[in-house]
Amino acid sequence: MSPSLNCAHRSGTFQVKPMNETEIKKPAGPVQDLKDMNVLVSLCKQRGFVFPSSEVYGGINACWDYGPLGIELKRNMKERWWRSMTDREDMEGLDAAILMHPKVWEASGHVAGFVDPLVDCKNCKARFRADQMDQAKLAAKDCPTCGKKGTLTEPRQFNLMFKTHMGPLEDSAAVVYLRPETAQGIYVNFLNVQQSARQKIPFGICQIGKAFRNEITPGNFIFRTREFEQMEMQFFVKPGTDMEWFEKWKELRIQWHYSNGIRKNKLRFHEHAGTELAHYAKAAFDIEYEFPIGWSELEGVHNRTDFDLGRHQQFSGKNLQYFDEQAKEKYLPYIVETSVGCDRAILAALCDAYRFDGERTWLEMHPALSPYKVALFPLMKKPELLEFSDKLYADLKKNFRATYDDAGSIGKRYRRQDEIGTPFGVTIDYDSINDHTITLRHRDSMAQERIPAEKLVEVIREKIENWG
Ligand code: ATP
Repeated sequence: MSPSLNCAHRSGTFQVKPMNETEIKKPAGPVQDLKDMNVLVSLCKQRGFVFPSSEVYGGINACWDYGPLGIELKRNMKERWWRSMTDREDMEGLDAAILMHPKVWEASGHVAGFVDPLVDCKNCKARFRADQMDQAKLAAKDCPTCGKKGTLTEPRQFNLMFKTHMGPLEDSAAVVYLRPETAQGIYVNFLNVQQSARQKIPFGICQIGKAFRNEITPGNFIFRTREFEQMEMQFFVKPGTDMEWFEKWKELRIQWHYSNGIRKNKLRFHEHAGTELAHYAKAAFDIEYEFPIGWSELEGVHNRTDFDLGRHQQFSGKNLQYFDEQAKEKYLPYIVETSVGCDRAILAALCDAYRFDGERTWLEMHPALSPYKVALFPLMKKPELLEFSDKLYADLKKNFRATYDDAGSIGKRYRRQDEIGTPFGVTIDYDSINDHTITLRHRDSMAQERIPAEKLVEVIREKIENWG
């Protein structure tokens, strides 16, 4: 706290009173959730969360750019995930290259198997994934978009990997792929990490990075894009203990989504039964979120057995077995994977936070995710108020991501911050100069309380720590 803000309240006898009913304002009408994704797309663009990529050229299908607030939200999301993983003693981090040896993708099965069955409508040119279509319509070849009968093509296999060439020659010998998942970078580094970090099984390796898929039906904003970021963790365990670890990770992962403030009734597990299971998986659950487009996958938790290490051992000719020094035995570990799209987690956080009461829109977001934790508003642009505000702002910025707004009516300034999910607003008025108190306003309840300026950092920190 800057010296000029010292005041009588520094004695420390001040107590923040609990708010009473009358201080909590009522919403203008029934509070509604997000129903239409387009409303969110528009808010994100206007407020600087997410812009269509290359917009001045008319955009490029399903590619998005994160703006000033979007990148703050993204960094917060990644930081929360990273901390939740690396706070563990049995976890190491990694940042593998996007371009990998082409044999990686043969071993992983992506060259032969990473395909979706694709059908086209000859009439309206719409394109669908055959496995996601109404199977009766698919059999009759009727287009679900234009309604024309018998107009769909036969399903064709379509590889989802983006191909490019390394070096100046565009021949088949130089083909490389943009990775379609980050996981393979972890598998091929398993022994490097284990030996250099002197980890013993069970332990995990976590990574955040870009992945690329030439999706047939991208869309629904940042739900399905062709370039996205994954937050993946591979946990290496002794065969026989894999299902126990699988259950543990399932629980840990749903708890992480709860800890981000996502409402419990909007999250559920979906088990992959028999034919839904990927070729490498012994067991798989999706964590689904109820997006405005319906319940959809947010994260996958998979028991991948020793499939991946076995295949890389076979294709590379290198021994990838782990040596257990105590038991004096060698084995290929089983792997439990947790994989969540950062962009999808952001979309879930935005959808879940959106509220509208007929007049006011606000993002009821966990403060740990909010781009700004606090916004400062001098009531008027008068030198005395600005001087006080500048000092307080400098102090707040040392502690939190904060913003400052002195333009327009105070009501409008509150609304602007509500729409971007800033949990706390601080107003400085003439009383502030006399008695060094400020008004602290709460985003969700709109309640206001008067507190000493010198207590502000402490009060905000306490409220964030005990959120929810
Ligand atoms: P879907 O069934 O939605 O295509 P998937 O089962 O292929 O997803 P995984 O390969 O398990 O997905 O990828 C793990 C996570 O990566 C998904 O749960 C999702 O959060 C994210 N993800 C996958 N594909 C995309 C994409 N095209 N755009 C954004 N995120 C994605």
